[in-house]
Amino acid sequence: MFNLSSISSTNSAPRHVKVLILGAGPAGLSAALYAARAELQPVVLTGTQIGGQAALTYTIENYPGFPEGVGGAELGDLFQKQAERFGAVVEFDSAQSVDLSARPFRVQTDNGEYTADALIISTGASPNQLNVPGEVELTGKGVSYCATCDGWFFKDKPVVVVGGGDSALEESLFLTRFASSIKIIHRRDSLRAGAILQKRAFENPKIEFVWDTVVTEIAGREKVEAVRLKNVKTGAESLLPTEGVFIFIGHTPNTQMFAGQLEMEGGYIKVDERMHTSVPGVFAAGESADSHFKQVITSAGMGAAAAIEATRFLEAEAG
Ligand SMILES: Cc1cc2nc3c(=O)[nH]c(=O)nc-3n(C[C@H](O)[C@H](O)[C@H](O)COP(=O)(O)OP(=O)(O)OC[C@H]3O[C@@H](n4cnc5c(N)ncnc54)[C@H](O)[C@@H]3O)c2cc1C
Repeated sequence: MFNLSSISSTNSAPRHVKVLILGAGPAGLSAALYAARAELQPVVLTGTQIGGQAALTYTIENYPGFPEGVGGAELGDLFQKQAERFGAVVEFDSAQSVDLSARPFRVQTDNGEYTADALIISTGASPNQLNVPGEVELTGKGVSYCATCDGWFFKDKPVVVVGGGDSALEESLFLTRFASSIKIIHRRDSLRAGAILQKRAFENPKIEFVWDTVVTEIAGREKVEAVRLKNVKTGAESLLPTEGVFIFIGHTPNTQMFAGQLEMEGGYIKVDERMHTSVPGVFAAGESADSHFKQVITSAGMGAAAAIEATRFLEAEAG
C-alpha cells in the first residue's frame, strides 16, 4: 500500500524562505520577532517543544517585565504571539538533517524540505539522563524530567530529585505543592544553585538533602518503587523507597545534526560575538551555542542578535 501523503511531501518542491529558524524556544522566537519586523517573513520550526525548555517550568521570576513572575508556558505563548503579529510563521515540524555546503541552505524536515537564504539555529538543549538501570524503562512511570508536567501525579507521595543546580532547586520547590516529601540527592556536599534558591530550599520543611550521594539504580516493576543510592565518600549503599524520581542534572545541546558542517566546541556551536557561525549566512543563538549563561533572557538576547545579523547579511548581499 502506498502512503500518498509521504510520497507527495517527498516529491514536492522544497519550500524556499529568506530566513529559516530552527527551534521555538526563547532564542528562536526572539529571532523570529526581529526577523519578522525586518519584513523577512521568517519561518520557525518548533521541534517537539514549543516555547522550549522555558515552557517546562512552572514560573519564571527572572525575566524582566514581569514583577510577579510569569508562567514558563505562558511566556513562550507571548513570545510566539508577538512574533506572529509581525508575520512570523510557526510550523510544527522538526529538522532532521541540514546541508550547509552551498546556498541556499537545505533543511530536510519531518514534513518536507526547506531551502533558506539564511539559517538561524536555536535548537537549544535536552535534559541529561542519569544512565542507570531502570531509568529508561520507568520513564513516564515515575521517572520524569519535568516537574511542571508531572508534579501533579505525585500528590501526597514521596519523591526524590537528583541534582544540585538552579533547576533542581526550583523544581523541588515547585514539587512541594504536591509531594509529601522531597529528598534531593546530590553527588557533592554543596550546591551550585543561586543563593536565593538555596535559602528557600533549606527553609522548606518538606525538603531534605542527601549529600555526597549518587543514584545507581531506579527500581520498580510497573512503576518506580525505590532508588538505590551510593555514598561517594564511604561507598555505603542503601535502598530508598520513593514513588517519583525527578532528574535535573544538566542539559546536552541539540546540535548533533550540525557536526562536521559547523565548528563546534564541546557540543556547542561556535559563534562569534555577533552570533555568526563558521558558515556565512548561518547564525546560532541560545543554548545550542551557549555553554555558559543558559537563561531565558540571554537566549532571547542572542536570538535577537542573530536575527539582526541575518538581516544585515541579506541586505549586504542584496547590495
Ligand atoms: C526546568 C527548567 C527551569 C528553568 N528555569 C529558568 C528560569 O527560571 N529562568 C531562566 O532564565 N531560565 C530558566 N531555565 C533555562 C531556560 O529555559 C533556557 O535557558 C532557555 O529556554 C534556552 O532557550 P533556547 O531557545 O536556547 O533553547 P530551548 O528552550 O531548549 O528551545 C529549543 C527549541 O528548539 C526546538 N528543537 C530542538 N531540536 C529541533 C529540531 N531538530 N528541529 C526544530 N526544532 C528543534 C525545541 O523543540 C525547542 O522549541 C530553565 C530550564 C529548565 C529545564
